[in-house]
Amino acid sequence: MTSAHDLADLVQLSRTLGEPWRRLAILAEGNTSQRIAEDQLAVKATGRSLADASAEDFVVVSLRRLSDIVDDPHAGDADVARYFDEVEIEQGKRPSVEALLHVVCVVDAGATTVAHTHPESVNALLCSDRAEVLAGPPIFPDQVVVIGRRGLLVPYADPGVVLAREVRLRLAEHAREWGRPRVIYLQNHGLVVLGSGAVQALQLTEMADKVSRVLGATLALGSVVPMTDESVERIDTRDDEQIRRAALARTRWRQPG
Ligand SMILES: [Zn+2]
Repeated sequence: MTSAHDLADLVQLSRTLGEPWRRLAILAEGNTSQRIAEDQLAVKATGRSLADASAEDFVVVSLRRLSDIVDDPHAGDADVARYFDEVEIEQGKRPSVEALLHVVCVVDAGATTVAHTHPESVNALLCSDRAEVLAGPPIFPDQVVVIGRRGLLVPYADPGVVLAREVRLRLAEHAREWGRPRVIYLQNHGLVVLGSGAVQALQLTEMADKVSRVLGATLALGSVVPMTDESVERIDTRDDEQIRRAALARTRWRQPG
């Protein structure tokens, strides 16, 4: 089992994402996870809120077991429920139904910290007929620095094994053209960020929220004019932006108090 210390960053990330002013998640919405061993993922238990998360609100699942269920075309919700029953008997709490989505992000895209939220700003676009602008060319340089050249947009799918399968398929397609995405936009649902740590997961969420707010305001004024491919390429590869990216990656949580 994990100690509370192992999950300190994950707990802090969860509480930060749940801060009411951010408008990223209310009630028990959203979930976070962190890979803690080769085959172990700590993921938020179902029904717990991000805002007052503690280490006790996380449950450990097997990446391999859940990834196998996603892979098996004959497996469905009943197989997931059977495994979750096992986990609940062992650990006294049940993983979130969205644990499978986290597993795919870790196994397929190499994330170590995953955060899934339902931001008002992002969902305003994801619930509109302009959702595709989120996965289009970037609109400003800081978006390129933090999120990269393209996010991945996934059509609506039933949360659980169906959504995890859809994300697995789309991640593979996206990787062929753009590499591994750092953000995934789920239509009519929400945002998933793929971080290499808790701080990066927060930075990605904050940037996706900002991009969505700017896009929302832009669409109210007129059409979106994205950056050109050349400008994006230039920001993505120039040295000073690489230095800024590295500095962002080294950022640590401030000590509380
Ligand atoms: Zn969700």
